[in-house]
Amino acid sequence: MKRIAVLTSGGDAPGMNAAVRAVVRCGSAYGLEVIGIRRGYAGLLEREFVSLGPRSVANVLHRGGTLLGTARCEEMKTPEGLRRGADSLEEASLDGLVAIGGDGTFRGAQALAELTHVHVVGIPGTIDNDVYGTDFTIGFDTAVNTGLDAIDRIRDTAEAHQRLFFVEVMGRTRGFIALDVGLAGGAEEVLVPEVRTDIDALCASIRTQFEAGKRASIIVVAEGDDAGRAFEIAERVGTKLEMDYRVCVIGHVQRGGAPTARDRLLASKLGSGAVRALVEGRTGVMVGELAGKVAETPFELTWSQQKELDMDMFHLMRTLAR
Ligand code: ATP
Repeated sequence: MKRIAVLTSGGDAPGMNAAVRAVVRCGSAYGLEVIGIRRGYAGLLEREFVSLGPRSVANVLHRGGTLLGTARCEEMKTPEGLRRGADSLEEASLDGLVAIGGDGTFRGAQALAELTHVHVVGIPGTIDNDVYGTDFTIGFDTAVNTGLDAIDRIRDTAEAHQRLFFVEVMGRTRGFIALDVGLAGGAEEVLVPEVRTDIDALCASIRTQFEAGKRASIIVVAEGDDAGRAFEIAERVGTKLEMDYRVCVIGHVQRGGAPTARDRLLASKLGSGAVRALVEGRTGVMVGELAGKVAETPFELTWSQQKELDMDMFHLMRTLAR
């Protein structure tokens, strides 16, 4: 292993830069040459390569977004696109590739590993935390803390006016962000795609809580909840309860910002683990963290297996909301 590349792909996530930095500096410590590929697989196809040394990644540890850029690249999903990607890797005389992203990114990574002699490993970087094989993805902790900050602020105004607030957080298919934000923020209810939302039961619970003396109610809604988006749910509940309500969609604010200490630590650990996996000759695996230890999972399991939402924590959220 002499020459490796690193790319970031899919949605950007705070901590991706910390992971790139760790790959570059650990690679350098092993005596490897490290190449950065701009704009994910789109840049791979267009051969947008840049040489990265330890100094190239100075001052990026604390920055959100991704210095390499990212993209969604539909062409990579076609046989022709994959062939172009494989040719780019081989013509650049690369021995290894580190792909940072979510399960879509790992599908592309697995295909490249099959088409070339290049060893390919992945690092989970996505705010959604929806990747099997790692307890946490890089960016999740920052997104949760950003959502939590919003909830804390909303609670101040909600309590002042005795109001019902619906706060929508990211999570098109999974409720990991919503559950953690809701539990940590003391939400009265959390609506996630994994649990069917019963509007009548929700209304009854809100009414009981106000009757028991609560001065405000905050309902955290994952954007992909089965009952619809926050505005839709709020209107149905508000009409049924004949109560005034407010809706706050946090949206893309959750994607940006400086990564938390936890995300920087995770990114540093996984960047180092990915380089070690390459140096030790492994390929076709995602390097994640399970029970505090670096753990490698075959790419295919990252999309064929579903990571479960912690239902004990979901029930705890309800117990603590009384
Ligand atoms: P996030 O969870 O943040 O959305 P992701 O990696 O899952 O991250 P995707 O948009 O699903 O995001 O995938 C990123 C890129 O990976 C795609 O734009 C495409 O280039 C590539 N990709 C996705 N699926 C495949 C596939 N089946 N085969 C080859 N490449 C793929």
